[in-house]
Amino acid sequence: MTENEKLTVSVLGTGIMGAAMARNLARAGHTVRAWNRTRDKAEPLTADGVQVAGTPEEAVRGADVVLTMLYDGAAVLEVMRQAVPALSSGTAWVQSTTASITAVAELAGLAREHGLAFYDAPVLGTRQPAEAGQLLVLAAGPVEPRPQVTPVLDAVGSRTVWTSDDGTSAAATRLKLVANSWVLAASSATGEVLALAQALGVNPQDFFDAIAGGPLDMGYLRAKAGLVLDDRLSPPSFAVRTAEKDARLIVEAGRDHGVRLDVAAASADRLARAAAQGHGDEDMVAAYFASFDEPR
Ligand code: NAP
Repeated sequence: MTENEKLTVSVLGTGIMGAAMARNLARAGHTVRAWNRTRDKAEPLTADGVQVAGTPEEAVRGADVVLTMLYDGAAVLEVMRQAVPALSSGTAWVQSTTASITAVAELAGLAREHGLAFYDAPVLGTRQPAEAGQLLVLAAGPVEPRPQVTPVLDAVGSRTVWTSDDGTSAAATRLKLVANSWVLAASSATGEVLALAQALGVNPQDFFDAIAGGPLDMGYLRAKAGLVLDDRLSPPSFAVRTAEKDARLIVEAGRDHGVRLDVAAASADRLARAAAQGHGDEDMVAAYFASFDEPR
């Protein structure tokens, strides 16, 4: 397979990330077939030349590469079990959903049973980089079939970091969970800074001015705080419910490997509380609301 060869790519899951990835694959000239549990959400992709399929099986038939971008490992397992009967041996599977280390091993096992080349390939970056095809892809998987998946990774991301030639090791997912523990801590801290400032009668701008240009200043803090202060929490880049799932994956991964992650556990609880208050579909920084007893 040459670098410029056009592929048939199946995208399973067209949420925030999957829809953007499907669009960029179509823009890169690949034939893209997408499936989403709620079909209506996939339909707008037809305007970009993406074919929308009624079942996972229909979406993957004859594909060179299957890309999964679903909520979690359990959803991927359920959907791929439906899809695999239609896949021929040798098809490459790029698994980009953020899943647990255990789930990645299970998915790799399913791939092995069916002779698929499995790539553990989570991504760093959110809605806007996904729409711009500028994700950072973290990837682990066999060397020999990489030319088959490289055009797909290049269409959705600006860079791919290869972590291992063994997808079953979940080496890429391990790095993703480490990175997301930082993202979640920063987002939770942003919410608490704003809640504390409000409670103490401090203008958040005075805090931003105080740290401006110094080592404590951070673009991410400014960007996420802006979403709360300007009431721009919908549509989300990364929803509260999805972030809670990731926080729990991180706590579980730490526990399974002998470390206690109190900050990630607190983030998970704050996100769950914000979801219970009705903010589950808003951007993750809406965990800010969990600081207040009265629903807002
Ligand atoms: P999203 O918009 O909520 O999309 C989730 C997708 O999963 C939807 O297509 C949803 O289908 C589908 N789904 C959920 N449960 C399912 C099930 N049981 N069976 C079949 N399909 C199911 O989430 P997202 O933000 O795109 O995230 C997708 C994945 O990327 C997650 O693992 C997330 O952690 C990861 N991620 C997200 C970001 C981000 O910033 N958003 C960044 C990096 C990685 P319906 O439309 O029918 O609900």
